[in-house]
Amino acid sequence: MDTVWTHGQTRQVETFDSVNPATSEVIATFGVHGQAQVDAAVERAREAAAWWASLSPKQRRTRLLAWKSHLIRYIGRLAELVHTETGKPLGDAQLEIFLAIVHLDWAARHARRVLGPRRVRSGLPAVNLASSVEYAPLGVVGVIGPWNYPVFTPMGSIAYALAAGNAVVFKPSELTPAVGGWLVSSFAEVVPEHPVLQLVTGAGETGEALARSAVDKISFTGSSATARKVMAACAQNLTPMIAECGGKDAFLVGDDADLDAAADAAAWGAVSNGGQTCIGVERVYVVDAVYHTFLEKLAERMSGARPGDDRESAYGPMTRPAQVDVIEDHVADALARGGRAVLGGMQSIRRPYVDPVILADVPETSLAIQDETFGPTITVTRVASLDEAVTMANSSRYALGATVFVRDKKRAMDVARALRSGMTAVNSVIGFATVPALPFGGNGDSGFGRIHGPDGLREFARAKSITRVRMRSPLNLTTLSRTDKDVTKLLAAATFLHGKRYR
Ligand code: NAD
Repeated sequence: MDTVWTHGQTRQVETFDSVNPATSEVIATFGVHGQAQVDAAVERAREAAAWWASLSPKQRRTRLLAWKSHLIRYIGRLAELVHTETGKPLGDAQLEIFLAIVHLDWAARHARRVLGPRRVRSGLPAVNLASSVEYAPLGVVGVIGPWNYPVFTPMGSIAYALAAGNAVVFKPSELTPAVGGWLVSSFAEVVPEHPVLQLVTGAGETGEALARSAVDKISFTGSSATARKVMAACAQNLTPMIAECGGKDAFLVGDDADLDAAADAAAWGAVSNGGQTCIGVERVYVVDAVYHTFLEKLAERMSGARPGDDRESAYGPMTRPAQVDVIEDHVADALARGGRAVLGGMQSIRRPYVDPVILADVPETSLAIQDETFGPTITVTRVASLDEAVTMANSSRYALGATVFVRDKKRAMDVARALRSGMTAVNSVIGFATVPALPFGGNGDSGFGRIHGPDGLREFARAKSITRVRMRSPLNLTTLSRTDKDVTKLLAAATFLHGKRYR
């Protein structure tokens, strides 16, 4: 309990601390917001949403671009905060913020074209009608974020929801509330008129309160287990949701692959951000002919990656202490089932750090293949062919991202299409996340719905269809004075239009 100043009143509220995972130092203290506070924020957001939606698309675009430019001017400060709260190296934090800015820019610039009124052909039976579709804002969107990319990930929802004309109530992860608070304050500096973007803080109960509140949609990013709880809470009010969940991304290497590039990409995809990336590389399937060479090259690259809290570190500590238990379980289970540690092993786990681990010959039934590890570990499995690699990659209950290293373009595209993942990168890793025009999201336990791109804008809008009479109909069928002759004419037209034999 603590005495804090909230919304003009001094009150006793429950609090929690945000902690530097590398040093255990307390960074800041935040209030735990309950249902009443969350509901009050949503109510304020409702008024703000009416104002925000009443602005022209151009006025919203100018404000969002002003926010973008504010973020780039203060990138140093925000990156420092991301580094302190998550432990990731400063350069990684800067890259993350830069990518978030690319998305904010795209959403601001494309909202009008994607969501604005668009004429559609009415078709012969409705030739007298002018038809159009446009996308109206939903109202208030609740965004529940994770900690691993505390700027890039929530901004994939926040930027697109705001650009679509909605107000947003944002609940960042309890591990990164200061980054969330900074984002919300920076928006208020640029758009001070109404609380179009608000912050609520707390852990699961606060997120659940947001899911139970009167928001018009929830955009959730986090684990599949939590998504199930959020969905149950959303069900109460039939509140729709987007679920961006975990992954177990596969990386496929064909016999014609550029093995240096493949090993480099797999090493980075496995250890960057300490492996705490939803689209990080967790499972590698390599065809027999190049298995040994690839494994050697991968070990060479990964062995050079050292975690730490200084400028030379390749990645930081595990941000969430409990994740180290998961990593430990996965490595122990893989070794107990006959897997081989090609690099590192149980000794690699030195809380809060985990050194890179490569596991080979790990049975497909083991935890390290089945569940999301979310650490700097990777499994490498030998396969007879790319077809077998696709079958094994697709046998996971997760289907978020994937990578294919195959030089032959046609073969690579065939493999990319055969993978069940929502996104696939060919001959590079994670490329799809950096292209704002591409929808981002998964299938199966990796969730549903899409952020980013035109699909991401439409997720935060409702389609509105309008038909307008532009001339008298030669055949009025929606009248009580319709005759049998009219129906005969209709059937003659229908036979002409649809009665052809197809083979
Ligand atoms: P998490 O599921 O523990 O928490 C995510 C968010 O949900 C947090 O803000 C948390 O406070 C909140 N929450 C917890 N219980 C809740 C409840 N009952 N109701 C409502 N909200 C609740 O996940 P995490 O540990 O913060 O993040 C890591 C996970 O996120 C990994 O599985 C990772 O793969 C996934 N992730 C996915 C994407 C993606 O785009 N698909 C991006 C980043 C992270």
